[in-house]
Amino acid sequence: MVDLQGQYAKIKPEIDQKMDEIMASAAFIKGQDVALFETELAEYLKVKHVISCANGTDALQMALMALELKPGDEVITVDFTFAATVEVLGLLGLTPILIDVYPDTMTMNIEQLRNAITPNTKAIVPVHLFGQCADMESIMGIAKEYNLYVIEDNAQAIGADYTFKNAKKQKSGTIGHLGTTSFFPSKNLGCYGDGGALYTNDDSLAQKLKSIANHGMSVRYYYDRIGVNSRLDTLQAGILRIKLPHLDEYAAARQKVAAYYDAAFKDCKKIITPKRSEYSTHVFHQYTLQLMDTDREALQKHLAQFDIPSMIYYPVPLHTQKAYQAYKFNSEQLNVTKQLCNKVLSLPIHTEMSEEQLRFITEKVLLFFNN
Ligand SMILES: *Cc1c(COP(=O)(O)O)cnc(C)c1O
Repeated sequence: MVDLQGQYAKIKPEIDQKMDEIMASAAFIKGQDVALFETELAEYLKVKHVISCANGTDALQMALMALELKPGDEVITVDFTFAATVEVLGLLGLTPILIDVYPDTMTMNIEQLRNAITPNTKAIVPVHLFGQCADMESIMGIAKEYNLYVIEDNAQAIGADYTFKNAKKQKSGTIGHLGTTSFFPSKNLGCYGDGGALYTNDDSLAQKLKSIANHGMSVRYYYDRIGVNSRLDTLQAGILRIKLPHLDEYAAARQKVAAYYDAAFKDCKKIITPKRSEYSTHVFHQYTLQLMDTDREALQKHLAQFDIPSMIYYPVPLHTQKAYQAYKFNSEQLNVTKQLCNKVLSLPIHTEMSEEQLRFITEKVLLFFNN
């Protein structure tokens, strides 16, 4: 699905030099690359503060902790996402309210968001699924109207640009009160292990987050709040500093792959290619097809014969997962997610794909449908 070896080969001299340098310094925790990376990412995103941490799940959890939400507070997010988004709500004793996504962009349904708000609602967590932003302008409008916090789960869309109706542009993840991201190796900006970050323009939230990430400490060995231990280590920060200047070029490579797939599948009636929303660029963390009246398992088996990987993101709606049955979900309103879980199929997409590989994959996909 990804080619991390090919990508590493292209930046190997710089990476290896950086690794040698950090190994020699032995500053594995809070070495200078950590603060430098935070500053450089903040500059790239045009956001005031970046707080790095151990992974994207911690980033979500710390965002909720910084907002000081209390057990029983309701947080609205989508049913069609990676489990981390919902899991952290459970860990903090918050009540997840799951709503559906639009069938075409697969991001948060705004009408359902409005209807899901109750006096207990405290926050909204839109997920910029597969590399494209949710309708942030509408979400921020509703949040303002009801005085709610917005945490953008930007694990899959770092680098995407959101355009407001007045033509103003902002980077994904910097529009809400807080944005969270993951540097898991296969994410669009991946390190060589685990890593994550939060972003915010709010000085006081930034201060609180720095303390939360460091055991709730203010002054050394004085603790103001219950915190966690969540750090991006220096080796990972060093790698990310080398990869960040390539992020836009990585996105362009992914967009080229997506355009190739789009063109190849445009006449196949059984394949719906990913819709681009009018308000966001798409950085294609995944290239996800929707298959109409198709035996998806048979297609996956057919592709596997030719060593072509394919993945189902996500096979089961979160509201039906065993882990979350303690919560009450409005299952009748989650039909789009149920349908998507049966229809989606993600094809390989990464920064190192050759035209030859793309030709091979698209030919084999079409062969399945034309037989
Ligand atoms: C990857 C991902 C996360 C979690 O990130 P980790 O670094 O793996 O903890 C959270 N939300 C979404 C949507 C993701 O894709």
